[in-house]
Amino acid sequence: MEKIIDGKAIAEKVRSEVKEQVKSLNALGINPCLAVILVGNDPASAVYVASKTKALQEVGMTDRTFKLAEDTTQQALEDLLDDLNGDDSVHGILVQFPLPAHLDSQRITDKILPQKDVDGFHIQNAGALVCEKDSFIPCTPLGILRLLQETGMETAGKHACIIGRSHFVGRPLSILLSQKPWDCTVTLCHSATKNLSFFTKTADIVIAACGRAGLVTGDMIKTDAVVIDVGINRVPDASKKSGYALKGDVDFESAAKVASAITPVPGGVGPMTIAMLMFNVAKAAGRG
Ligand code: NAD
Repeated sequence: MEKIIDGKAIAEKVRSEVKEQVKSLNALGINPCLAVILVGNDPASAVYVASKTKALQEVGMTDRTFKLAEDTTQQALEDLLDDLNGDDSVHGILVQFPLPAHLDSQRITDKILPQKDVDGFHIQNAGALVCEKDSFIPCTPLGILRLLQETGMETAGKHACIIGRSHFVGRPLSILLSQKPWDCTVTLCHSATKNLSFFTKTADIVIAACGRAGLVTGDMIKTDAVVIDVGINRVPDASKKSGYALKGDVDFESAAKVASAITPVPGGVGPMTIAMLMFNVAKAAGRG
């Protein structure tokens, strides 16, 4: 197993696979299309949307991007979703989160047709995931599963410790890893967990998704554990033009000395999230 799990290279592999799928779909007269909706002026969200649309174009898919004003009403956004739900040329719909505070995110999520919910956040997809039925799996957990698969490690019977219980990352991942074919014994830690290192120290796989820069240090993990760092934290850094650096939830330097394999930030989970979005759009288009 390579020490550094190269998320960029694995994401590239996924994208090549998706490109082939797109060609096959094109041959059937299907042009996979994702509608991307950005509301407001959050700079980080604008960056995420730009990288998603760029990736869509690279794999030969069509994007329809809607940039809506900060004061867009709930009704206006729901009306747009109704239109896109009814448009057969649109296979997937993505609303970039976070939404401005006056909008009801859960209602918006559940307004998207489950078969176009390529983010996998709709309550119907979340339920299907729990019941091991075919569904859209949220892109970040799906990308982490693919990373683990690519390491070639045997996960059955291993102890996976996940830090963070969000609906987008930690919780779905905890459910997936407990299921076949992963068959892990899962510990799901969160902000109320006491003595975090008690759990991480016995884990064969540590997955940090808590948004706390450098929380997991080398002394918290056991020798030869596999460490997956989901965190993307902006920490002030005067040496950078932007004034900040991106740091993970893992202290890479100390953890890399102990781990058998570890993802970097950036270049680990991040590229996989976008690649798996492409994967989900191809899946939506393929379902017709
Ligand atoms: P969130 O804020 O919704 O959830 C954070 C979770 O971490 C919560 O469940 C909380 O209980 C837990 N937590 C917070 N502090 C903790 C502590 N000290 N000890 C143990 N648990 C603690 O976050 P999220 O949306 O799941 O994202 C988590 C991180 O992953 C963020 O840094 C986010 O930017 C990043 N992220 C990265 C990608 C990617 O593609 N790489 C995708 C999604 C999220």
